[in-house]
Amino acid sequence: MSATLATILKELDPSIRILIVERLDGPGLESSAARNNAGTGHAANCELNYTPEGIDGRIDPKKALAINSSFERSLEFWSSLVEKGRLSSNKFLNVLPHISFVSGQNDVDFLFKRQQILSRFSAFKSMKFSMDREELNQWAPLVMEGRNPEEVVAGTIVERGVDVDFGSLTKSFIESLKSQDDFEVAYCSTVVDLFKIDKERWTVKLKSPSGPREIITPFIFLGAGGGALTLLQKSSIKEGSIYAGFPVSGQWLICSEKKLTNKHHAKVYGKPKVGAPPMSVPHLDTRWINGERSLLFGPFAGFSGKFLKYGSRLDLLRSLRVNNISSIFQVGLKNLDLVSYLANQLMQAESDRFKDLKRFFPNAQEHDWELSIAGQRVQIIKATETGGELKMGTEVVTSSDGSLAALLGASPGASTAVTIMLEVLHRCWRHKISSDSWMKRLKLLLPSYGEDLNANDELLNKMRKRSDALLDLI
Ligand SMILES: Cc1cc2nc3c(=O)[nH]c(=O)nc-3n(C[C@H](O)[C@H](O)[C@H](O)COP(=O)(O)OP(=O)(O)OC[C@H]3O[C@@H](n4cnc5c(N)ncnc54)[C@H](O)[C@@H]3O)c2cc1C
Repeated sequence: MSATLATILKELDPSIRILIVERLDGPGLESSAARNNAGTGHAANCELNYTPEGIDGRIDPKKALAINSSFERSLEFWSSLVEKGRLSSNKFLNVLPHISFVSGQNDVDFLFKRQQILSRFSAFKSMKFSMDREELNQWAPLVMEGRNPEEVVAGTIVERGVDVDFGSLTKSFIESLKSQDDFEVAYCSTVVDLFKIDKERWTVKLKSPSGPREIITPFIFLGAGGGALTLLQKSSIKEGSIYAGFPVSGQWLICSEKKLTNKHHAKVYGKPKVGAPPMSVPHLDTRWINGERSLLFGPFAGFSGKFLKYGSRLDLLRSLRVNNISSIFQVGLKNLDLVSYLANQLMQAESDRFKDLKRFFPNAQEHDWELSIAGQRVQIIKATETGGELKMGTEVVTSSDGSLAALLGASPGASTAVTIMLEVLHRCWRHKISSDSWMKRLKLLLPSYGEDLNANDELLNKMRKRSDALLDLI
């Protein structure tokens, strides 16, 4: 996320001086590392939690459309960087059909209704629904083989989906930034404190291999993933005082057996269990990590006090404050099905995890799979007048003077980084972003900037054609 913001800023004004501070010894090793997330280019093609069914049975397409156009914006941005020779798409992007798969009459009815609603929009026009077992077998043979012939099943497919290695993308961003003037990245350096010294400047205190270091800066972006809440609290800005965080850990089952990896070519998303948070929708995915093809199934959620995979078990405890502790308890009471879901997941033995995989891939053999630890997510809890509210998405928090921005939460995450960073610029760099010079450069970087892709079919198709050609998506 920070590398995306730095790249956008440098494209808009190459004279801006930027320092990225990273506590680990390289870029993109936390949540953005390929194995720590699912690498889905979230476009709402297959993720059923982006189109929840209301109690009246209606499906609202709003969220799915917003996520889809956000992802198109990311593709547009990456395309421009490829065009400029700053990125190479074959290092981080692979085309992969996005499939939703469900069983049982209720879920089949839901999936049909979802496809009927979404495919009315240009963004999802190519979405196809099928209950034909032979066709489903062609789409996802591992999911169909060995399945009870009596089971009612259905799927939808969008061929134009992608798998993204966000770790490689981060590395590419940093490599490109390092070749430009006035850019520095300090590895093995931890931000330990930050405070405002006067109206216009912040001091940031670092613990670095060469000893303590102090940076003076007019603007800070806290893009520290799960660590952002801790830093937001240290900044003491008023706007940050209403937030708390609840960490959710994750695990995957991974398979590198060629006989299986060669047989599956899709991201297949199912229906989440009752109470499951959005990041726990089970899916069986083809992944490319460092050019190696593998299969990933999960995630299995759990609880750990850490805010970062390479963090401390005391992170949650240290984040508790008088003004956020009650909202955590209220959220716990209001979301008992989530609490019981997490407790269940925590108690899961290896054999239970394998049973979940078998529901998806009936012929799976235990010895082909190994357990891998995913990244941590810190779900946002926001204090409201009526008590605490659990937020499943991302939230940009900014100080009233625009000198600090923090990114909390993780869903839909890295896929929508460009849209999120535009929000940061609009809130913190208001005058600059409306200036002629920035506007001109923004239009070159994001040709559809300022337009609503969902309201302009011609533009959407034009932008898709451009991204497909520049990113080799066809
Ligand atoms: C299990 C799981 C599955 C996911 N699946 C998807 C998916 O399929 N598609 C998708 O788009 N997104 C997905 N996400 C979300 C995605 O991974 C995140 O949105 C994204 O990686 C966040 O990027 P970031 O830069 O904000 O955080 P990170 O990649 O975590 O980077 C933050 C960096 O800040 C550093 N840091 C923290 N504290 C400090 C400090 N005090 N000083 C210095 N450095 C510090 C950390 O070391 C880290 O390198 C998933 C996440 C998880 C956990």
